[in-house]
Amino acid sequence: MDDPRLAINGGPKAVTDDLPEIYPGGMRIGEEEIAAVTDTLRTKRLFRFYGPVEGPSKVEAFEVAAAQVMGTKHALAVNSGTAALCIAMAALGIGPGDEVIVPAFTWVSSAAAATTVGAQPVVADVDESLTLDPTAIEARITDATKAIVVVHMRGVPADMDAILEVANRHGIPVIEDTAQAFGASYKGRRLGSMGTLGTYSLQFNKIITCGEGGLVVTNDTDLYERAQMFHDVAAIEELDRPDRFVATVSRMSELQGAVIGEQLKKLEPILADCRRHGRTIVERTADVVAAAGCRSAVENDPEGLAGISKIWLAPDAATAQWVAEALSAEGCEARALFTPSASDLHDASHWGPLHEGVSWRGKSFREMDAAAWGRSDEILGRAIHIDVMPDLTDAQVDQVVEAVTRVFGAVAEKS
Ligand SMILES: *Cc1c(COP(=O)(O)O)cnc(C)c1O
Repeated sequence: MDDPRLAINGGPKAVTDDLPEIYPGGMRIGEEEIAAVTDTLRTKRLFRFYGPVEGPSKVEAFEVAAAQVMGTKHALAVNSGTAALCIAMAALGIGPGDEVIVPAFTWVSSAAAATTVGAQPVVADVDESLTLDPTAIEARITDATKAIVVVHMRGVPADMDAILEVANRHGIPVIEDTAQAFGASYKGRRLGSMGTLGTYSLQFNKIITCGEGGLVVTNDTDLYERAQMFHDVAAIEELDRPDRFVATVSRMSELQGAVIGEQLKKLEPILADCRRHGRTIVERTADVVAAAGCRSAVENDPEGLAGISKIWLAPDAATAQWVAEALSAEGCEARALFTPSASDLHDASHWGPLHEGVSWRGKSFREMDAAAWGRSDEILGRAIHIDVMPDLTDAQVDQVVEAVTRVFGAVAEKS
């Protein structure tokens, strides 16, 4: 590990190119999105439900296409992934006094959405796939549990068969937070389509994007109408049902709809490119990674991965930290997924105000005990993560392979 040829020790970098920015769909914005936005502006129809021109809106067209891709009966476009989570919870009738189980590794929004609707987030461990551990759920279930939020982190499917088995046995709805895995699948079914409701983010960092945006999918027409009412205060004018209610506004605008409609058409090529690069990196580095005493994180369905990341597990956190630093020094940006001192809102240990049970109403929830997800931090601390972007060239993939080979090779020599 003190090999002078490594960049971390002053040697030349393995990755000499500037690798693509980590915005998969964002970096593929092109003439198609520009034309769609321009068309929207020319017609002056900026609102999905009406405007100077009649006919189907771009938001609605996106919903129809998204439902088809996901294989669900309904899709509702909204203005963020966080809003989508709140809407899914509200559709299920979740509120004060209720509990929502969330994994320890997820963007803070999964837990914040619960507090936003007035419910108590309850953290459960992740396993070595870095997604919700099906065996950790049961111990967190109480009479107050009203939903389990499964999060397909970094494009990796959670173990849906086992999770749905536990959820169904207890009669608890599952919300699939698919913000980081749009289009990925599990055993041939799209992520987000297997739970009671699925949610997605279309924020700029996600697989396809319109800057800000979100999506809710479900096969349940009753939940879909409730989601409509929570996201559009005027929806009751169209809905005739005994449990009508008014709530808030999280509608998607036509400008967002214009962009995301074009992005959706680019989904499959983006996924295909990520998956191809990921496979190359894995195949060409498997031996050296194993020789270093490391291995790939668990992949519940290797065929279904979105492919936007590659994650390895080291035997201990110190090795993971060193590998991440050494890879970054080589020009291949890497990080360990949990560093106690480095604040990161993707880990429950860094969810500040939620630990104290504080919301905009001051202290309004139970405090959280980090001991409840100690196993997650131990696993995340050993996890080494790199992004895999669709726009990598073959030469750049070669350079990444070289970086991985050099760095894990140095660990192998030491061990
Ligand atoms: C990004 C993200 C969200 C929130 O989406 P926004 O569109 O930023 O509100 C929720 N959950 C996960 C796992 C995310 O990665």
